[in-house]
Amino acid sequence: YNVLLLGSGGREHALAWAIAQSSSLNKLFIAPGNPGTAEVGENVNLSISDFDQVWDFIQDNDINLTVVGPEQPLVDGIANFLETKNHPVFGPKLQAAMLEGSKEFAKEFMQRHNIPTATYKVFDQNNFDEAADYIKEQGKYPVVLKADGLAGGKGVFIPETEAEAMEVLEELKTSDSLKDAASRLVIEEFMIGEEASVFAISDGESYKVIGNAQDHKRIGEGDTGLNTGGMGAYSPAPVVSTGILDRVEREIIEPTISGMKEEGNPYAGILYCGLMITKEGPKVVEYNCRFGDPECQVILPRLTADMLEVIVACTESKLDTVNIDFDDEVKCCVVLASGGYPESYEKGKVITGLDDVKDAILFHAGTKKEGNQILTNGGRVLNVVGSGKDLQTAIDNTYAEVEKIAFDKAYYRSDIGAKGLKH
Ligand code: ATP
Repeated sequence: YNVLLLGSGGREHALAWAIAQSSSLNKLFIAPGNPGTAEVGENVNLSISDFDQVWDFIQDNDINLTVVGPEQPLVDGIANFLETKNHPVFGPKLQAAMLEGSKEFAKEFMQRHNIPTATYKVFDQNNFDEAADYIKEQGKYPVVLKADGLAGGKGVFIPETEAEAMEVLEELKTSDSLKDAASRLVIEEFMIGEEASVFAISDGESYKVIGNAQDHKRIGEGDTGLNTGGMGAYSPAPVVSTGILDRVEREIIEPTISGMKEEGNPYAGILYCGLMITKEGPKVVEYNCRFGDPECQVILPRLTADMLEVIVACTESKLDTVNIDFDDEVKCCVVLASGGYPESYEKGKVITGLDDVKDAILFHAGTKKEGNQILTNGGRVLNVVGSGKDLQTAIDNTYAEVEKIAFDKAYYRSDIGAKGLKH
């Protein structure tokens, strides 16, 4: 296969790394990629939001499979576009990607199919007065307010008091960056429990669980401070016990795949179930239509299956013919970020020690190559993924490698995985 992979983050380096190990691969291109993906394939400078440009490249280079990493092109309909050209693409079509692209759509879908999630109500921006009345009537805090559309993790608010909730409503109406995503607003019950994610792969008919993980969204130790793209992850997550996983499959994944199919929007691709493990059982916090970043970095190294063959089976509606097996090691991923992230930070710092990392996999994210040097080029810079026979060993092995890497104002959390140790 000649494969084109779209994206440029740590998730895409992990995907490229997995695909590059396949005996079925002829040539791998990554658009736009990063210095890490350049080590396992060829980076190409394409604008992935320009579908015609992507299609020209596919034709010129005899690509026979396109794999989509991030959500934006999926929610913009790249899978539909490539299907009209009869080109195999791994990633759900627009109508299925709406499980991530619209929170209102996702909530109504879950309600139709009795999939456990927080109780909710949806309001239009012109009717925020009614939203305010609803919040006051409920009188339960914290309460969760979510902009309907994609907001890069910045569209969710969890006010603790009525006054705070009213301020959030005001901000959603006026903020330039959120006004559009918040043209519809989902207000939902605050669920109490521990968060985890379970990943399934589906060809639209059948599905297979491809792993579970717990990520660390906040910038600060002990899950404090601002939300980020993700500061680390580990897999498997002990909170996802065999009993819980069984319920997630029966109560969430199975009805999601069959519900989408029944409604005429078969879901083919990676289904990311963001969950709250509550006292009553697992409930959906959110769906995503692709791998998480950094969860992908700990899921893929555990798979012993040939990832390219699994993906191909999926695009050929033959997922039931492949086996998905895991090694029995625990994987831990620590993200090295630029000091200041997720707010403003400096770029262009020289990174040292990369060649000394021997007992971990290094996935690049915000880096760039200049001459023989690797420089920082983003908020989240590098992912270090270590393994061990148990979580504590995986954590220790990972941090031993993390400490070898240095750049000016480098920041990482030193408690990745700690919340899994208490189980
Ligand atoms: P965006 O769409 O802006 O990218 P997102 O998809 O990351 O945001 P969610 O995952 O729905 O948004 O919510 C972000 C975080 O808020 C969750 O990871 C969880 O910690 C918290 N959260 C969301 N909904 C609830 C809820 N009903 N109860 C408790 N916590 C919640």
